[in-house]
Amino acid sequence: MEKIVSLAKRRGFVFQSSEIYGGLNGCWDFGPLGVEMFRNLKDEWWRTMTYREDIEGIDAAILMHPRVWEASGHVENFTDPMVDCKSCKARYRLDNLLADLSTKRKKEILRSIEPELFSGKLDDEKVLNEFNNRIKGDVANKVVQTLVPCPNCGNTATFTEARKFNLMFKTFVGPVEDSSAVVYMRPETAQGIYVNFLNVQSASRQKIPFGIAQIGKAFRNEINTKNFLFRTREFEQMEMQYFVKPGTDTDWFEYWRSQRIQWYIDLGMDKQKLRWHQHEPDALAHYAKDAYDIEYQFPFGWGEIEGIHNRTDYDLSRHEQFSGKSLKYFDDQTKEKYTPYIIETSAGASRSFMAFLIDSYNEEEAPTADGKTETRVVLKMHPRLAPVKAAIFPLVNRDGMPEIAKKIEKELRPHMRVFYDDAGAIGRRYRRQDEIGTPYCITVDSQTLEDNSVTIRDRDSMEQIRVSIDQILNYLKTKII
Ligand code: ATP
Repeated sequence: MEKIVSLAKRRGFVFQSSEIYGGLNGCWDFGPLGVEMFRNLKDEWWRTMTYREDIEGIDAAILMHPRVWEASGHVENFTDPMVDCKSCKARYRLDNLLADLSTKRKKEILRSIEPELFSGKLDDEKVLNEFNNRIKGDVANKVVQTLVPCPNCGNTATFTEARKFNLMFKTFVGPVEDSSAVVYMRPETAQGIYVNFLNVQSASRQKIPFGIAQIGKAFRNEINTKNFLFRTREFEQMEMQYFVKPGTDTDWFEYWRSQRIQWYIDLGMDKQKLRWHQHEPDALAHYAKDAYDIEYQFPFGWGEIEGIHNRTDYDLSRHEQFSGKSLKYFDDQTKEKYTPYIIETSAGASRSFMAFLIDSYNEEEAPTADGKTETRVVLKMHPRLAPVKAAIFPLVNRDGMPEIAKKIEKELRPHMRVFYDDAGAIGRRYRRQDEIGTPYCITVDSQTLEDNSVTIRDRDSMEQIRVSIDQILNYLKTKII
């Protein structure tokens, strides 16, 4: 992780927010390469999800009527259990404190509370299951208060009772800061879709089943932010809500599950590092009939990158109830009127950006020009995600090579992001591009002067082929666009 965070900063993918003031916890800025890669990722999602006849896009406002969040259940339920350390005043999420314990410690805790059940040998997987099944609610509260040391000061028996902490950021509309002016920064993009369901349906003349997609910022006042972009207070989501006829929801749920995991695989993510996590019935959100997370194996463990949820008719029914406006769908063929069920695919844009960055990171031994080997850091990301598509180098800065290279750069630039580099040995120039994931490097050398061909080097195999200058754009287009 440290290597990735440091590369991200050094090469301009991600900077800490307000760094010169010491940073602001849980907020990050995308640098020149980061913003390019991030846009590529969001474009890929947008293209996959909305360039089809049954899905429309929207971009709703971040601030919404406060009743939206009452109807959605966020005012009441969007809370995390928070505890404070009485010794050092550090603040934690109760469930995180428990989840972060070592397996050994979890085993000891299980034994101490249920000695007879756990007298024999316990394998690690069983420990984790039993721990999650048994240590919850009041028991979890008790365990944290008596048996869990504070990660900051190390003291045990130091935590307060858990309190509910609402994760929504509040602000005020207009000049008067009183309770009637309170609005929330949206904690998810989904609600902007639900309240626009009939607007979109009638404007686009869609028939059920159809979906509405949105990419946008979301804000959560997370108690603890950690692991780089994994848990931040301001982040981006890519959500699609698919409206279906009740009774067909299970099939659509399966359809979207397979579509969504395939998206990550098609963009080059290592299949072995992806898995499904089904929410246990008692861990399901109040609105959900079924829920699966797509998890990625981060360096710090498995973590959710996207949730696929069968939300039933909960959202539309609640908004009907709270707004007094009908959100029912009328099927003019069958003459039926009903509240659709919703299958949601909810991906973290910034979180999956981080997963793609991590997944692409490789260190490998590569030969140097003088016959030795050196470690090359290479981001083997899908060419469509790569921030720079091609780099152009003159082998040496004479004999007309820079002029030819500049001309190639000028021709390619309107079609894709390219980079011109004439500084240092050619090997070093390749390494600099490897480190930011540039899939192709084009070199103008002495043979170019004779036959108008250049070398194109492939980032992953490091193989070079010769291509005639007038074929470069075609070649790159077939590989990248
Ligand atoms: P978690 O359990 O990790 O807090 P969640 O179950 O609350 O996540 P959802 O509400 O389902 O997450 O949000 C959908 C997606 O939004 C997640 O899969 C994740 O990729 C992203 N996401 C949620 N919270 C954050 C956050 N604080 N920082 C970055 N991305 C987030």
